[in-house]
Amino acid sequence: MNTKALPHILIIGAGFGGMEVARGLANAPVRITLVDRHNYHLFQPLLYQVAIAGLLPSQIAYPVRTIFRRQKNLTFQMGEVMEVNLAERYVKMDGSVIAYDYLVFAAGGETNFFGNQSVEQNGFQLKSVQSAIEIRNHLLKLFEEASHEADTDKRKALLTFVVVGGGPTGVETSGALAELIIHVLSRDYPHMDLKEVRVLLLEAGNTVMPSYPDELRKATVKLLKSKKVEVLTNAKLVDYNGQRVTLGDGAPGSKYIEASTLIWTAGVKAAGIANRLGVEQVRDSGRVRVADTLQIPNHLEVFVVGDAAHLVNGNGQPLPMLSTVAIQQGKVTTRNIRRIIKGEQLEEFHYKDPGLLATIGRNAAVARIWGLSFSGFIAWLIWVFLHIYRLIGFRNRLLVLINWAWEYFFYENQVRLITKE
Ligand SMILES: Cc1cc2nc3c(=O)[nH]c(=O)nc-3n(C[C@H](O)[C@H](O)[C@H](O)COP(=O)(O)OP(=O)(O)OC[C@H]3O[C@@H](n4cnc5c(N)ncnc54)[C@H](O)[C@@H]3O)c2cc1C
Repeated sequence: MNTKALPHILIIGAGFGGMEVARGLANAPVRITLVDRHNYHLFQPLLYQVAIAGLLPSQIAYPVRTIFRRQKNLTFQMGEVMEVNLAERYVKMDGSVIAYDYLVFAAGGETNFFGNQSVEQNGFQLKSVQSAIEIRNHLLKLFEEASHEADTDKRKALLTFVVVGGGPTGVETSGALAELIIHVLSRDYPHMDLKEVRVLLLEAGNTVMPSYPDELRKATVKLLKSKKVEVLTNAKLVDYNGQRVTLGDGAPGSKYIEASTLIWTAGVKAAGIANRLGVEQVRDSGRVRVADTLQIPNHLEVFVVGDAAHLVNGNGQPLPMLSTVAIQQGKVTTRNIRRIIKGEQLEEFHYKDPGLLATIGRNAAVARIWGLSFSGFIAWLIWVFLHIYRLIGFRNRLLVLINWAWEYFFYENQVRLITKE
């Protein structure tokens, strides 16, 4: 068969959405080129575990070429997409140009600092393997520094960890960080006074986990407090100079917090390359407005899925930036590409909410599944098994399970190595 005559599908992004489309078209009469700046698919929901020294990056990332080894109609190309020309139907990579018949734009998102340069320069973000490793190195180094710092104020600042953003990522990160300190570092640094350590979770709004039902929000705060995380709501961050957090008027407690660590989890926007499409984007989030079929109006050969796509839910709210949305949109895009090829009418996307799930640490999670709310141990068990199930690769699943079991029984995080000066 002359495969060159087959429609060429170009997928930008080997994240949740892009991978779903690539796999869904495995036996379709198409040629697929999948491109990504990394040679791996990253399971972002477990990034915070790398940051708190719980898992290795290789346990939550999987090489794209290995995933698609047996898929004959797919070619992978690693590289950064620099330009997308919708009119001429090609993309420019660093060093090559790829033409397409259909484009699936699945480039995901990046951290949104909402223009706060002080945080961008001095804080940490949690969005990539690199950023998670930077946090891990920084946290472990601070404990080393604090262990021989004689000045009490300086030591307390070294041991104050501020997480900004009361959504699931901020909650999970602050809970896990508190546990790392309580269960692990306390034993590595037996002479350190744990009372000097503070983990704070700042949220500008009046509640953490705003998208969760009231009972789960309350349960979250209770579980965080049980792990000694200080939860400050109505606490809008104004500035962070690397040593001092400044809060806006009306924040509870002191306007200033002396802290050597700030982890920003308070915003995501569409990946920068979305700005190069030259199509309508939503202000602030930069997400691309798509039709219900996930196509760009006026460019029906282009589909946008996942974090990069803006589509309004049945309740009038934009769909959340979640892997479940990206995966479901990937499935619909796969079917729609097949329909286009067959000359059939396209399907509209309707998100089926599978529920809500976030962990706060050992034996502690909150979940909303089948209309029922759970918190504590049962929710945590659901979280553990779901995350293991969703990881790509049997080896990764096994290693993560062993790691977590080890941590659970022996209170030991496995990756407490400082790998950078
Ligand atoms: C810390 C954290 C925790 C999270 N926790 C959860 C959770 O518990 N549950 C949940 O459902 N969701 C969670 N999410 C959100 C979830 O990870 C995203 O919604 C999901 O990854 C979006 O999928 P996507 O396919 O749109 O983009 P992504 O998975 O981000 O993939 C985009 C891909 O595009 C590539 N790319 C981007 N720009 C370019 C370019 N110019 N050139 C080449 N390649 C490019 C990137 O390298 C990336 O591989 C979390 C996210 C983070 C950061």
